[in-house]
Amino acid sequence: MVKSPPRMVTAEDDDHPKEECGLFGIYGMVDAAALAALGLHALQHRGQEAAGIVAYDGEQFHSHRALGLVGDNFNSPDVMTRLVGDMAIGHVRYSTSGDTVIRNVQPLFADFKFGGLAIAHNGNLTNAYKIRHELVQRGCLFQSTSDTETIVHLIAISEYGRVVDRMTDALSQIEGAYSLVAITQKKLIGVRDPHGVRPLVLGRLGDAWILSSETCALDIIGAEFVRDVEPGEIVIIDDKGLRSIKPFSKKPNRFCIFEYIYFARPDSVMEGRNVYAVRKNIGAELARESHVEADMIVPVPDSGVPAAIGYAGESKIPFELGIIRNHYVGRTFIEPSDQIRHLGVRLKHNANASGIKGKRVVLVDDSIVRGTTSVKIVEMVRAAGAKEVHMRISSPPTMHSCFYGIDTPQQSELLAANYDLDAMAKHINVDTLAYISINGLYRALGEEGRSLEMPQYCDACFSGEYPIPLTDHEKDPAQHQLSLLDESK
Ligand code: AMP
Repeated sequence: MVKSPPRMVTAEDDDHPKEECGLFGIYGMVDAAALAALGLHALQHRGQEAAGIVAYDGEQFHSHRALGLVGDNFNSPDVMTRLVGDMAIGHVRYSTSGDTVIRNVQPLFADFKFGGLAIAHNGNLTNAYKIRHELVQRGCLFQSTSDTETIVHLIAISEYGRVVDRMTDALSQIEGAYSLVAITQKKLIGVRDPHGVRPLVLGRLGDAWILSSETCALDIIGAEFVRDVEPGEIVIIDDKGLRSIKPFSKKPNRFCIFEYIYFARPDSVMEGRNVYAVRKNIGAELARESHVEADMIVPVPDSGVPAAIGYAGESKIPFELGIIRNHYVGRTFIEPSDQIRHLGVRLKHNANASGIKGKRVVLVDDSIVRGTTSVKIVEMVRAAGAKEVHMRISSPPTMHSCFYGIDTPQQSELLAANYDLDAMAKHINVDTLAYISINGLYRALGEEGRSLEMPQYCDACFSGEYPIPLTDHEKDPAQHQLSLLDESK
């Protein structure tokens, strides 16, 4: 375990896109790209900044990649009729700032000795800069600033012959969190890193095979869920069917616990658990841990809703929609500057004032990151005349940055990393503030608690225990310096 490293702020932080992404792949279906576009629609919550699909028709690869939402880019017959083929992969992506340019939009495509390969990645590699630096010394020319390109170069220089062996060789040099989908001229390939940090599931639609970050994308196309791709597993799908290999040395499972708390869609099933049911359990556990007398439980919509339902059920206090969300504004987090983020919050939520006046309100949200949302929400609930405002959070305090693919700001911007509970309560102006305990969270997931020697999940954002080395962040930041190219967006 690596203990909570200080996060270095370098040019890389502005430039390097931190991926929060969704993946989809399909093999053996006419108009594969159309189904990929539908799948990406269902995965849109995993990334709203860019989307891309690459299809292969038996002779040629066809690619369309664009900044913006799936619906805005994959809706025209001009685009869709060009993406011919019965296999395709797609990607939705969210990067925090800086290099949101087309050269970083996935799937990445490259022409190798063995033919073409398109690849898409969810997660963050933690030694990509170190390897990139070495590859550049050897003469490799990088086209993007995406860490995924490092995998592409390692595949290119591998001395193995077959593509899966080259990929295995490349990935055995990589550290970090990754789920990958790729297509070659013959195969659809899916990979999960040895710790299984990011999700990837396998589905079937008739004779076609599907890979997806979440099961909600299987539902949208009427595909059947087969199973999760296992940590460290590579699945290879071609005209002989599906083959699975596990070429990496076995590592303990460390599925990202934040997928359950916030990131995944509630109708998805991850590792056998329905995300909505997990969130309700967390809410119920939170109510048991930090009950407070009140008149109503109010979720901060939408992310706080399932936990608030669980909290209300357990506490027997009525659940009320005391805050209404405008669904036509994007996630607050997406806005680049603080000023806009503030504005965004006001645009997004409004207190349903008539029900709140004179009442003791328990607000339930899934997390506090910078605290911006909580401050605004509490302000509007107080302005609507609430007698008391209590805040309950369905995750432990977010005290550490994620380096494995969930965008969190640097540690100095995390409210819980800088204030104790009382100071945070004062800052957001609530009568009481409580978070679920880390053991309570594990209990809500059906575990006995968090095992100290062997936590069953990656919970580094709460515990500071990073299961995968953070090589790039511990090395000289000068190594990470990338040349910046200003491109039209
Ligand atoms: P903040 O306003 O900075 O405290 O952010 C907290 C809000 O952002 C909560 O309502 C969460 O639902 C949401 N949130 C937490 N983590 C993320 C993330 N990685 N990306 C987008 N939104 C998030």
